[in-house]
Amino acid sequence: MMEAYRVVFRERKGRLLTPAQFGCLEGIPALNITNGCLFRCTYCYARGYSQAPKEREVQLYGNLPNLLKEEIQRRRILPSWVVLNTSSDCFQTHPDILKVTYQTIQILLNHRIGVSFLTKGIIPQYFFDLFSQFQEKILPQIGLVSLSEDYWRRYEPGTPSPEERLKNIEEFKKIGIYPEIRIDPIVPFVTDREEEVNRLFKKLSELGIGRVTLSYLHLRPLIQKQFIEELSPFHQKLMEACFRLQEWRKVGSSTKTKLIPRPIREKGYERIKGIAERYGIKASICQCKNPDLQGDLCSSSRVRFLSKRKKATQIPLFRCG
Ligand code: SF4
Repeated sequence: MMEAYRVVFRERKGRLLTPAQFGCLEGIPALNITNGCLFRCTYCYARGYSQAPKEREVQLYGNLPNLLKEEIQRRRILPSWVVLNTSSDCFQTHPDILKVTYQTIQILLNHRIGVSFLTKGIIPQYFFDLFSQFQEKILPQIGLVSLSEDYWRRYEPGTPSPEERLKNIEEFKKIGIYPEIRIDPIVPFVTDREEEVNRLFKKLSELGIGRVTLSYLHLRPLIQKQFIEELSPFHQKLMEACFRLQEWRKVGSSTKTKLIPRPIREKGYERIKGIAERYGIKASICQCKNPDLQGDLCSSSRVRFLSKRKKATQIPLFRCG
C-alpha cells in the first residue's frame, strides 16, 4: 500500500510557534510535520482542506527542524507546550517523516517545551529513549476507536492495526508515561455496540489506562464524498441514515458540520461512560466536538490548562550552543 504514495519535500515558511485559534487548542502553538497523511482515514476532515496535497501524495516539511531552531534562537519567550498533528500524524510509517519528527521533538524538548500529540502510528523505540528523559514534558494520546478488525479495515485501512497501536501503550508504560486514549470518531451502531465497547475497555484496563476522551463522528461535505467513494453500500446507507435529518452547522473552526443526532450521542456517551467506569477508567466527552452537550476537560484542554498555569519559558539573554 505504501508504494502507491509519494512523500515529497515541501519548504515550510513563516513563523512556526504561532498560537492556534480554534477549540480547546486555542492559544497553544500547533505544528504539523507533513501536509497530508499517509494513513488516509475514511473520516479524515483534513483530506478535504483546500491546501491538501493531490491524491496519493504527502508533503514533508523537511526544513522544519532548521526553521524551528532559528525561530527559537530569535525568540525571547518560548511557549511551554506545543501540540503536534492537528491535521496529520507525525508517526506515519515513512523513514523521512519519522526523521523530521524526531528532530523536531528533540529540539522542542531540549528547550523544555512540552510536546502533546495524538497518533495512530507506530512509535519507534528510539523515540521512547528520548521521551524517557523528559517524562513530564510528554502528553501522548493514542487514537483507538475499536479493536474490531472489520471497523479498522473499513474506516482506517491505511493505519497500523489496533494491536500495533496498543504496543505504544506498553512502551510508554515502561518509561513511566500513561498515555490517554482518544476514542474518536465513535461510529454509531458500529463501534458503540455493547460488546465492542466492553472488549475495548477490558483491554485498556489490562494495560493500565485510566483516562479516555470520547467523541462521536462528525460529517463535513468532503467526508461525505469520501464515504460515498470508500465505504461499502451498507455503511454508506448507515451514514446516510445517521445524518440525513441533521442540519449543517458551525462547529469549532468548521462552518459546515453535521453532528450525530443528540439523543443517540447522549445515550451512547452515557452507556460508554458506564462501561468505562466498571473498568476503572474515566471517560470524558470532548467539549469542542459536542458544543451542545456538557463536555469535560479532555486532554487537549489539559494542555491548554498546563500552558496557562506554567508561564512561557523566558530565554536567558546569552545562550550557549
Ligand atoms: S491519522 Fe489523522 S490525519 Fe491521518 S488520515 Fe487519519 S484522521 Fe487524518
